[in-house]
Amino acid sequence: MEDWVQDFKYAKTKGLEMELYAKKEECCGCGACADVCPVQAIRMERDREGFDYPYVDSRVCIRCGRCEDVCPIKNQFSEKCANRYLGARVKDDKTRYSSSSGGIFPVLAEYVLARKGVVYGAGYNERMEVIHRKADSLKQLDDLKRTKYVQSNTQGIFSDIRQRLEEKRWVLFVGTPCQTRALKLFLGREYDGLIAADLVCYGVPSPGIWKNYVRYLEKKYHGKMTDFSFRDKRARDHGHSYAYVIDGKEHTGSLFRDRFCIMYFGNYMLRPSCHSCKFCTVDRGSDLTIGDFWGIEKVRPDMDDGMGTSMVILHTDKAKKIWEQVRKNMDWFECEKDDLKQPRLSGPSGMAKARRLFMMLYKILPFSFFIRLIDAAIRLFSRR
Ligand SMILES: Cc1cc2nc3c(=O)[nH]c(=O)nc-3n(C[C@H](O)[C@H](O)[C@H](O)COP(=O)(O)OP(=O)(O)OC[C@H]3O[C@@H](n4cnc5c(N)ncnc54)[C@H](O)[C@@H]3O)c2cc1C
Ligand code: SF4
Ligand code: SF4
Ligand code: SF4
Repeated sequence: MEDWVQDFKYAKTKGLEMELYAKKEECCGCGACADVCPVQAIRMERDREGFDYPYVDSRVCIRCGRCEDVCPIKNQFSEKCANRYLGARVKDDKTRYSSSSGGIFPVLAEYVLARKGVVYGAGYNERMEVIHRKADSLKQLDDLKRTKYVQSNTQGIFSDIRQRLEEKRWVLFVGTPCQTRALKLFLGREYDGLIAADLVCYGVPSPGIWKNYVRYLEKKYHGKMTDFSFRDKRARDHGHSYAYVIDGKEHTGSLFRDRFCIMYFGNYMLRPSCHSCKFCTVDRGSDLTIGDFWGIEKVRPDMDDGMGTSMVILHTDKAKKIWEQVRKNMDWFECEKDDLKQPRLSGPSGMAKARRLFMMLYKILPFSFFIRLIDAAIRLFSRR
């Protein structure tokens, strides 16, 4: 039986009703519906694949319809943008090293912090869960840098941002395109002080599987994980290395050998909505889109030093004006849309043929056994 049918039955027995989407593909888990509900009738609950979905308590709901108005899947952006396409990397190597690609995020963040604004992005909490949170100082900013290949939890973030904007403060928000679209719908009006940026997005893996993976590594190495970098750049290999720290000891290796990343990039554990994502385009409702400049070695070989270059698409006049003010901090060049060889700008990630089997095994097996099975499969395929 389909998972969502099982979940629906479960919800029914609890007196909850699932009304916001008919299929799991129709919910990206942004959480905006739960945040906007005036009577707190919506609760995000984790399914057996490890993703969070909203459940509506029909006994509390007053049928105001706000949850549907803020849903980024139901309200897609469909306009054409007057885009500018750029390649850019921050001049300060230390800043670029501490970011995943060319470091456009910290440059924008510092612009906002210098104006006593607030920056919202994804960081780790003490349990190594990925959550959206705010930074209003350079020190707090460090944790928001770097890509975390896990779906982030945005609980309460949209309301918090509205409050800061109402106080007339500058706000930079960076998230997946569906999260950024959700924020814009949640706010329901334009704010001069908001810079809404979204990422080129491969898709988000299961936070439930991530949680189990962290616990598994902690048990294996008898300690507490305090950091996991998915894009370590010390080897100057375009960030294709991982580095994590357990009880002060660092473990490093190729991204293509880390089990979690193998499961992620093999498309076994992406959120179902990611496989039919409508945000894989250059036209977005955000101010700007940022990502890795794939193919830099062909477009500008002189800039390819293995330490990362950002791809930037400026959509709005506001983004174009801010760019004029921050570009002095970057080495950059103007380019054409066709120079951006990003598959996720033209279509979503495909689903692994064995995803169903993978998830079935994940649901029924103890995690340590499940990982051993993944290891065996990796050994088998690498021999072929
Ligand atoms: C799940 C995911 C998939 C991605 N897929 C692609 C891709 O296919 N192609 C591509 O070109 N780029 C992709 N990116 C974007 C890329 O990895 C960089 O994050 C981006 O280029 C910004 O790099 P930077 O050097 O400017 O900033 P950095 O300093 O590295 O900052 C990273 C920014 O991303 C935000 N962020 C980190 N993790 C998450 C998360 N889990 N959810 C929401 N926001 C997050 C941080 O808050 C920060 O604002 C992806 C990012 C994520 C999180
Ligand atoms: S219709 Fe209104 S009250 Fe009901 S769940 Fe949606 S936001 Fe909440
Ligand atoms: S608002 Fe977000 S979490 Fe709620 S139903 Fe829509 S996509 Fe899902
Ligand atoms: S792939 Fe699409 S649906 Fe999935 S997280 Fe990214 S923007 Fe959202």
